[in-house]
Amino acid sequence: MRDVLLVLNCGSSSIKFQVFENDSRLMPILKGKMKDIGGRPELVVAGHAKITFGSGLSPDRALSEVVQWIHAHDNNWNIIAAGHRIVHGGEVFSKPVVLDNEVLKTLQNFVSFAPLHMPYNLMGVETLKKMYPDIRQIGCFDTAFHAGLSALHYSYALPSSLREQGIRKYGFHGLSYEWVMERIREELPNQANSRIVAAHLGNGASLCAIKNGKSVDTTMGMTALDGLPMGTRSGAVDPGIVLHMINEMRMSASGVENILSKNSGLKGLSGISNDVRLLRQSDNPDATFALRYFAFKVAQHTAQMAVSLGGLDLLVFTGGIGENDERMRESIIRHLSPFGSFATHIVKCNEERVIARHTQRLLSES
Ligand code: ADP
Repeated sequence: MRDVLLVLNCGSSSIKFQVFENDSRLMPILKGKMKDIGGRPELVVAGHAKITFGSGLSPDRALSEVVQWIHAHDNNWNIIAAGHRIVHGGEVFSKPVVLDNEVLKTLQNFVSFAPLHMPYNLMGVETLKKMYPDIRQIGCFDTAFHAGLSALHYSYALPSSLREQGIRKYGFHGLSYEWVMERIREELPNQANSRIVAAHLGNGASLCAIKNGKSVDTTMGMTALDGLPMGTRSGAVDPGIVLHMINEMRMSASGVENILSKNSGLKGLSGISNDVRLLRQSDNPDATFALRYFAFKVAQHTAQMAVSLGGLDLLVFTGGIGENDERMRESIIRHLSPFGSFATHIVKCNEERVIARHTQRLLSES
């Protein structure tokens, strides 16, 4: 039997998983993804399987399929623990924790801060609990990397009665930024303490201003809707628009949420897709506009992050768009050229590895 760690990253439209050997090198031995849940779901496991499912596969069924597949392909493994990506840890969790019943109860308080993510993150924990009742489960938080933001950077200009209730910027994609910093320390050690803006550009997108390895500012807010336009999320819009939709257009809260979360961003601007690859292939002017807009906004927000840092030494790209779309990177860099020179770098996103390491460390401590 080999001791292994299972890592789950459960979202509403995809489930990523990896199995790691539980030794000092943390060798990945299985890596897979169920994608397009809610559309045409497909389970792809590197070197093993590509299984398509009929449309209408619910997120919990999709998760069961993934866990059952892993269980059926257990190669003499002894799963000693599972690590989970948990999007929101509120002001309570600023480092990884064992997900016992009390912690799980507390996390329910943050579901409304991340309604698109938290229910699926927690579903992953419950499903594994049923299948592997004896293993320890560890939660790693996307908000944790930003726990040291100062009040100047995390406050909204709102009355204290609201601010006292936890209404503040938390920031997300922290596991991705942690990995970025680990790679920078390895690949560009001279830059590790410089003024860095990391750009996580995937279906979700945000920027993080990093100084001396720590998050100083970030573009997402209390929720993962703020900041950059994304695949289907609007990013920052005038809050008066939300009031207008409710008061004048008589839209329901869920109608507004549906627009801002699922039908805006690249999808809303192009009217075609949230997939940058499809937009690149299209000669529709709206697709071109959506891509131009995205690059422009990333550059504008990068300048904002640079103010928080007092300058910019290094711009790092990660996430599906950041890693693969050279034209997007060039366009962003071109917009920033009036602000002087800075280095650029690309890091392949690997949130699962960060989760595996935290899980291993927590096991050794407890
Ligand atoms: P998620 O946030 O779901 O993890 P990813 O980081 O995988 O998303 O990023 C998904 C985005 O990356 C999509 O918009 C997709 O079009 C884009 N992308 C992936 N590969 C490429 C590529 N070769 N060229 C341009 N965009 C790409």
